[in-house]
Amino acid sequence: MTCYSMSQPLLSFEQALNNILLATSTLLPKEIISLVNANTRILAESVYSPINVPPFDNAAMDGYGIRFDDWLKNQSFIVAGCALAGQPYKQPLSTQQSIRIMTGAAIPEGVDTIIMQEYVDLIDNRIVINQPIKKGQHIRLAGEDIQQGKQVLAEGCQLGITQLPILASLGIDKVTVYRRLKVAIFSTGDELVSVGSALGNGQLYDTNRFTIKLMLEKLGCQVIDLGIVPDNEEVIRQTLQRADQQADVIISSGGVSVGDADYTKKILSEQGQVYFWKIAMKPGKPFAFGKLERAWFCGLPGNPVSAAVTFYQLVQPFLMKLSGNSQWQRPKQFKAKAITPLKKVPGRTDFQRGKLSINQHGEWQVSSTGQQGSHIFSAFNLSDCFIVLERERGSVDINEWVTVEPFNALLKE
Ligand code: AMP
Ligand code: MG
Repeated sequence: MTCYSMSQPLLSFEQALNNILLATSTLLPKEIISLVNANTRILAESVYSPINVPPFDNAAMDGYGIRFDDWLKNQSFIVAGCALAGQPYKQPLSTQQSIRIMTGAAIPEGVDTIIMQEYVDLIDNRIVINQPIKKGQHIRLAGEDIQQGKQVLAEGCQLGITQLPILASLGIDKVTVYRRLKVAIFSTGDELVSVGSALGNGQLYDTNRFTIKLMLEKLGCQVIDLGIVPDNEEVIRQTLQRADQQADVIISSGGVSVGDADYTKKILSEQGQVYFWKIAMKPGKPFAFGKLERAWFCGLPGNPVSAAVTFYQLVQPFLMKLSGNSQWQRPKQFKAKAITPLKKVPGRTDFQRGKLSINQHGEWQVSSTGQQGSHIFSAFNLSDCFIVLERERGSVDINEWVTVEPFNALLKE
């Protein structure tokens, strides 16, 4: 990847994201784990079904099993036995016999059609079918859901609520997954204090480590929390070196802008490579991306909203690619009508926080959550989408169409 000079022009958001994704692919080792521990993990090998699902032909309704050709001659049948789920009827069917059968029960030999119990008249031990029927009705065929040998899940898929039950239904109790991505995090800033301690004069609580840790956990990463690091060149250097020995990715926040105490970028350029550190996006202009000897490095801006937005928009896709998650996609963007004016200065792509609704014509509309300052974290709590305003666009009037991107699970409960 191109390394940008210290006087680099602002890289567009799209170029930055593209560069990040092109630079990476997963090299994580594989491991075999039990299905019960596999939630959020990424499949490292495709899974093929060892069995048919359902494993045998079975009844889709409570009713009676018959041979269709018998019904063509006579609609009256003797009830010869009963088949329940887990308790099959084992004898072959004789002419004009029916079998009482319950949902999920294996289809007895000779039965090819099930009649719902509502459509028969039961007189003593005999039924008379009182409705037209179709051959083969109400039978779930073996392999109808999944055929033996067929690919069920592809390599690169994340295992969750819609995948794990499928594997359980196939009796698969172990899966080959990529090792979890190890991500070391720390916050920089002499002014920062961890929650639980009292605030001194000029001090702030460290919000970013909280946000980043929660997001990393949602993404299925293993978090190595290195705490708060003071604005001290030597301590930051040692922290980065230590993190480089332990983690696949290091994420810091703060200290990447051009303030006097912004050492992170300087140390990164000594110890590894800085690919870029300025992006034409708002919030989040200072965002450093590079590599140390072993680990990748993402330096998020210190302002809590900027840290959350750059993590969401840039680090999230990067981590998904590194994790081997090839099916991850950002939520689809679409157009909505602005119902509040939106302030914007041309020059950077804005990711404003908005709230979606539908107007009386059935059109999507979006309102701003008000103040868009990068220190106003509470705006996330009022919003459910990003309003993505193009780089060269200026302020937006009421009723103009804008692009919106609903939050995914990272910013939802
Ligand atoms: P910086 O990027 O270090 O110049 O920080 C920009 C702003 O974000 C400053 O007002 C910092 O005090 C604030 N800030 C930096 N890190 C954090 C953090 N972890 N939690 C909350 N605020 C922070
Ligand atoms: Mg700072």
